[in-house]
Amino acid sequence: NELTKKLLKELLSGEKSKIRCRKRYIKKDGSIVWADVSTVLQKDKEGKPVYYITEIIDITDRKQAEESLRKSEERFRIIAESITDVIYEWDLKDSIQWFGNVDALLGYPAGAFSRTLDGWISALHPEDKENVLAAIEKQLQGAVPYNVEYRIKGKDDVLYWWSARGSVITDERGEKIKWLGAVTDITERKQAEETLRMNEARFRTLVENIPQKIFMKDRKVRWISINEKLAHDFGFRPEDVVGKMNADLFPPELAAKYQADDVRIMESGKTEELEEKYIREGRETWVNTIKTPVKNATGEIVGVLGVFWDITDRKRLEEKLHQYTMQIEQKSRDLEQIIYVTSHDLRSPLVNVQGFAKELARSIRELMEAINAGDISEEVMRRMAPILKKDIPESLEYIQSSITQMDMQLSALLKLSRLGRAAINVEQLDMNRIVSEILKTLEFVAKEKGVKIKVEELPPCMADAAQTNQIFLNLIENAHKYLDVKRPGVIRISGNKQESNVVYCIKDNGVGIARGYQEKIFEIFYRIENSKYSGEGLGLAITRQSAEKQNGAVWVESELGIGSKFFVKLPGI
Ligand code: ADP
Repeated sequence: NELTKKLLKELLSGEKSKIRCRKRYIKKDGSIVWADVSTVLQKDKEGKPVYYITEIIDITDRKQAEESLRKSEERFRIIAESITDVIYEWDLKDSIQWFGNVDALLGYPAGAFSRTLDGWISALHPEDKENVLAAIEKQLQGAVPYNVEYRIKGKDDVLYWWSARGSVITDERGEKIKWLGAVTDITERKQAEETLRMNEARFRTLVENIPQKIFMKDRKVRWISINEKLAHDFGFRPEDVVGKMNADLFPPELAAKYQADDVRIMESGKTEELEEKYIREGRETWVNTIKTPVKNATGEIVGVLGVFWDITDRKRLEEKLHQYTMQIEQKSRDLEQIIYVTSHDLRSPLVNVQGFAKELARSIRELMEAINAGDISEEVMRRMAPILKKDIPESLEYIQSSITQMDMQLSALLKLSRLGRAAINVEQLDMNRIVSEILKTLEFVAKEKGVKIKVEELPPCMADAAQTNQIFLNLIENAHKYLDVKRPGVIRISGNKQESNVVYCIKDNGVGIARGYQEKIFEIFYRIENSKYSGEGLGLAITRQSAEKQNGAVWVESELGIGSKFFVKLPGI
């Protein structure tokens, strides 16, 4: 009202000829009415004011429309600023307006990306341009929704992937006014998709190219996928396996076994490697299978994955090997038995020969006495003398020494056959104790020869006490026996752990062994021709057999005239 009075004053004073203002009236029901009010002053001929003419137009509706437009614009602004997408408006001519940070999306400084349609089109990837423009055209012509994915060039020609939507807005008369839409940067998603696609392609290539057969079953033990190689065995396409059960693919017994394995592995969550039977083209084969539980993203077991390959040939070879081993073992038992029986049985005739040879010797002696007593004629005497005095005793001597030799060899054979048949009792052996006891028994020899003996700390081993004792006794005895008289003897005994074994060494500075004989000395009855030393030539043969029976070994390194190192390998603890 104040304002109205002021304006009327201005009108009356002639300052203005027409006043206009926007006013609010309060209606009877209390609601407010907006009105445009314009007033002019009507004057008479002398120019005196006579009356006002006032025009009042109700503009409440317009006012409300303006208000609601303001509100929707405000809402639009808030939405446009708070979403990651960029909203755009195209006036259907050249100009495009971007709401939201399109520049940052493309790596440009603020305001650098084109505000024109041509600018946007030229940033499109050439391969996508045609497609995008066609989609726009379709939307402009009809109802086909505009929804496309395309590549767009950002700063430094870096390509981005955009997903764009948009549609035409029409006025109440159906006239197209403009185009409104939004774009989303989907570069990361596209890259992830690409990586996934690549990984899948790699995985497929691998699965289809390795010689192994691969399958996967779900939690309910339904087959869900197989590779081509396995599909080939089944005689159908890989996709035909979907939904099949073990029982649909294999005979009942085999299917039940597979089923039990699958269930167990899914329940335990543990990978298993199995050697199992498998039927291919109607024939039973052997395969090696690795089955492993498959987990989903949250760690639940959702199935079982299997990879298997044929091992029938290997299995057959193993079986053959087993057969041969059994045969060899049997043969070697037979041989030991033969040696035992023959060496045992041959001794009785030998004892007879020995006895009768002695008897013969005695008879000769008696005959000689008779001759010496002169009971025979001169002539006979002359003829018999060389026979009785030389030929017969010489022959007898040969017979005796052969018997001794044969007896020795037979008892050696007996020893060896007993060793072969002896049971092995493996236990942990304190080698320091065993060696020191052996050295005690050899103390006399050592002292006599003036031998210096050094024993290092020896690691224990797992072996048979009696046989190991025999091995070390033989080797330490030999070390003493084959010392070189030309220099004071030195013997050194040591031992080292080597992986799961222990290797002991008995080293001497004796006569040594020429290279050509280093293997031969382990043969039965083999001795290097040397009259100085006596022996059966059996010690090393027994030593080697005994070590090998205990999964060990014996070997030598030696140099003639310098000395020898005998090594003994036995299982460690
Ligand atoms: P033996 O000692 O009864 O002859 P062995 O089987 O123990 O039988 O040894 C076979 C041969 O190996 C011996 O005759 C000897 O020539 C040689 N030999 C064994 N040990 C040594 C050693 N420590 N140094 C040199 N020669 C050795």
